[in-house]
Amino acid sequence: HHTLAVGQEFPDAQGFRDTLIATAIAMKFELTFIRSDRSRVTAMCAADGCPWRIHASKLLDVDTFQIKTLKGEHSCVRPERSSHRQANMKWILSCIMDRIRENINYKPKEIMRDLEQEYGIMIPYLKAHRAKERALELIFGMPIKDIVLNQTEVQGMETVVDDVLDQRRKKPLKGSPVHCNLCKKIGHNRRTCLKSRQSESEATSLKEKNFHCMLCKQSGHNRRTCQCKVEPVWMN
Ligand SMILES: [Zn+2]
Ligand SMILES: [Zn+2]
Ligand SMILES: [Zn+2]
Repeated sequence: HHTLAVGQEFPDAQGFRDTLIATAIAMKFELTFIRSDRSRVTAMCAADGCPWRIHASKLLDVDTFQIKTLKGEHSCVRPERSSHRQANMKWILSCIMDRIRENINYKPKEIMRDLEQEYGIMIPYLKAHRAKERALELIFGMPIKDIVLNQTEVQGMETVVDDVLDQRRKKPLKGSPVHCNLCKKIGHNRRTCLKSRQSESEATSLKEKNFHCMLCKQSGHNRRTCQCKVEPVWMN
């Protein structure tokens, strides 16, 4: 599985890069890419002084990529558990997509725990959370804000959305009562504040009052819905 050898072929440059990254993560060394484009990829172990390096290039007239050289044994000391510069969004998604498809309640904390247990890779909470949002976007085919808005239409989404909203909602400090910064009262926040609802409805009714038809100058409808059959002046 995670062994690279001279002569080994890959469908294309991206296929080679993905395998190289998965191998580096599995073997717990980081990569420095010296060059990486559609026709050649050269990379070395990122550890100071470690001689390991690899070079692969595109075969003539096809996309196929082949490993041409593989030099040096790792002399680096590799930690059992650590962060990894190649543990990017794409790699995290490749690890979690199937699990989120099976269980949309798979939590960012569980993503962090499983990546650490299975790969020895530690990622920050925010990254795990973003990966979960991205996975949901791919599964439901819409941006996360639309998933949140359409939650009632997507079966079983309630808990997911709660989870997503929980992360976005600024949690009040433990022990300190919730306190509204609109009306300065205790026991609710600005989102649930009656004052903000009041000013919102005042704003809409004001808008309705100012809303009038350009054709007949009456209020309550616009020129598209005008029933007065007045020809606009610029038509004459
Ligand atoms: Zn190394
Ligand atoms: Zn309030
Ligand atoms: Zn009108």
